[in-house]
Amino acid sequence: MNAKNTKKEQAPCPYAKKCGGCQLMNMTYPEQLSWKTARCIKLLGRFCHVEEITGMENPSHYRNKVQAAFQLTRSGKIVSGVYQSGTHNVVNVNSCLTEDRKADEITVYIRSILPEYKILPYNEDSKAGFLRHVLVRRGFSSGEIMVVFVGANSRFPMKNRITDALVERFPEITTVVFNINPRKTSMVLGERSEVLYGKGYIEDTLCGCAFRISPSSFYQINPVQTEILYNTAIEFARLDKNSAVIDAYCGTGTIGIAAAKHAGSVTGVELNGDAVKDAVFNAKRNKIDNIAFVKSDAGEFMLEAARQGETADVVFMDPPRAGSDRKFLSSLVTLAPKTVVYISCNPETLARDLTFLVKNGYKAGKIQPVDMFPFTNHIETVVSLFKV
Ligand code: SAH
Repeated sequence: MNAKNTKKEQAPCPYAKKCGGCQLMNMTYPEQLSWKTARCIKLLGRFCHVEEITGMENPSHYRNKVQAAFQLTRSGKIVSGVYQSGTHNVVNVNSCLTEDRKADEITVYIRSILPEYKILPYNEDSKAGFLRHVLVRRGFSSGEIMVVFVGANSRFPMKNRITDALVERFPEITTVVFNINPRKTSMVLGERSEVLYGKGYIEDTLCGCAFRISPSSFYQINPVQTEILYNTAIEFARLDKNSAVIDAYCGTGTIGIAAAKHAGSVTGVELNGDAVKDAVFNAKRNKIDNIAFVKSDAGEFMLEAARQGETADVVFMDPPRAGSDRKFLSSLVTLAPKTVVYISCNPETLARDLTFLVKNGYKAGKIQPVDMFPFTNHIETVVSLFKV
């Protein structure tokens, strides 16, 4: 599986210096993989053997979600792309090495037709103009595409005509949404949305299950590697038809839903209410009836479960970059599942949390890094832990 990519794919990125998003741009892909494996060995090697990172066959254009900021330059030109690192100046991007090609093509097309519709980018200082961002999400296996226009107010001129033009030009677009974000914030999406075309969401398939993706849903951005990540996590869990499973930090329920058919019962725990709603929908959509979801802080949930004397055979945990808190970890130790599968997007907090678990009765079985974010320095890792 580890890629043997050639220099051909390492076309230097013309935006690299200004953008700063790809910290490993100066390395070939095999060098990036070696760098990531070495970093995992350094941080995690004391717990058990670290497998070589699973790389991509083709590491380019893997992002299924593309967010472009729009801006009017001093010379009156409309630009769209990413913010120059550390500034609020937009770097005009036509094609990014990590982003889906079609999504970039759509963004560039929108940029090109704005003058015709007399639409100006929003200016954060003067509050003039309208368009803040365009968000494009693509289901890699379904082929469905969602386009979200994010405006600073509800006055979107000729929104229906622009939608018609877009859908005619790109028939793969199955839904178009207008999102209104009037606030001074670094968040891309505001709270209000209006569906201009289609269902307002797209679907994609992962591990044989269908998942609904709304404009703001959390969904892993590299679907090719996500399938590998989830399958690794499920394999590490050694589930059987009697296993009682907790999927902590479950997001829209993807890991738990994919695992449910191999398990007795699954409980997903997630803090974000919208994600829980998506998770409930996704479970129904896949006709999975041995899974339930709880909206709660994962630490609180575990503490309560431990207090009630409940048990679990397997706990999947997939916390954000900050890792887990002490409340979660000590309740996990009290709950004493036979197996814990830790999915981490930050090997530093992973090392900290593993130190605690290893001191408190667990032993690391396997450590498998998976390259979810080629060209960047981000590292995703799956670890199995067993009760000693
Ligand atoms: N397992 C999911 C989501 C992982 S992202 C997937 O693979 O798609 C981490 C998730 O943890 C996010 O959905 C976030 O909302 C949630 N989260 C963050 N802090 C939390 C907490 N204290 N308790 C429960 N969930 C939390």
